[in-house]
Amino acid sequence: MNRKLQIAIIGGDARYLELIKKLAGHPYYQIKLIGYDQLDPGFFSVSHTDLTQITPETLDAVILPITGINDKGEINPVFSSQCISFPEDWFARLNQQALVFTGITTTYLDEAVKENQIKLYPLMERDDVAIYNAIPTAEGTILLAIQHMKITLHEANVIILGLGRVGLTVADKFAKLGANVWVGVRSPSDIARANALGFGGFHLDGLTAYTEKCDLLINTIPARIVDKLVLNTLKTDALLIDLASKPGGINFDYARDRGLNTIHALGLPARVAPKTAGEILAKVIDQLITDHQ
Ligand code: NAP
Repeated sequence: MNRKLQIAIIGGDARYLELIKKLAGHPYYQIKLIGYDQLDPGFFSVSHTDLTQITPETLDAVILPITGINDKGEINPVFSSQCISFPEDWFARLNQQALVFTGITTTYLDEAVKENQIKLYPLMERDDVAIYNAIPTAEGTILLAIQHMKITLHEANVIILGLGRVGLTVADKFAKLGANVWVGVRSPSDIARANALGFGGFHLDGLTAYTEKCDLLINTIPARIVDKLVLNTLKTDALLIDLASKPGGINFDYARDRGLNTIHALGLPARVAPKTAGEILAKVIDQLITDHQ
């Protein structure tokens, strides 16, 4: 590589501190930070600037926050009190080869992709990121379970709903701690997979047959599965942890009315392991930039 790649990191949360550290250590990356004015300028040996000082045409990559850009074309950065507002032509001015990273895409970014054919990478939609992120998610779930249960996880009866990227890792970690793990899924192949991995696999239609003895129910399914019928069968001291993104899969109002201890635990990787979560993002972004060269 005969020149340094110009990378703008615009906004971001605690995860981005590790991400910046990792990318700033790369010999061929020149990092420009926007939206970090509350950090000591010496915190990273990279230049702090603002959006008006950046020429989009010169950028090779743009790293946006996990939440992307809102419908007004703005970012409200965690490490600055100044809202970052994108001029209408900003994405049109980007080099067509430039890579744009975000956590999730938004209507604003979808429009920008449509109008300007930019190369957008919504990182949270990628399998590799989701699989890596499942580890801090599972560890955060263990932390909550230990904090909120009055019994050990060893020999606790744990139901996990869903055997996707999060469900699989959560089931594995709880089983390794000695819990009796049952996994509720909707497909015969997932029932087989759960059983092959040593968990008790069952179809979601039969969920209430398992809930009576349940000490901890962990939902990872982004659909309303834990309804009144299911909640009525749970012990009053059972703990429910919903990991699925909003609105989650539990009827929270009814669970509260029944006095059940229910936690909607969102954003665990950022909360329990921002450094690891940042490393995961840095690894994937670095790989994608390298692949693109
Ligand atoms: P995933 O890999 O897509 O897995 C989703 C699971 O839910 C699969 O087992 C899927 O079954 C099942 N499912 C989806 N819709 C269903 C329905 N209507 N009925 C029954 N089963 C259904 O997703 P993931 O990566 O594991 O993420 C799961 C959730 O956790 C998402 O909402 C994600 O945003 C969230 N998440 C939360 C955190 C946190 O910190 N709380 C961290 C990461 C992710 P099929 O395979 O049969 O479709």
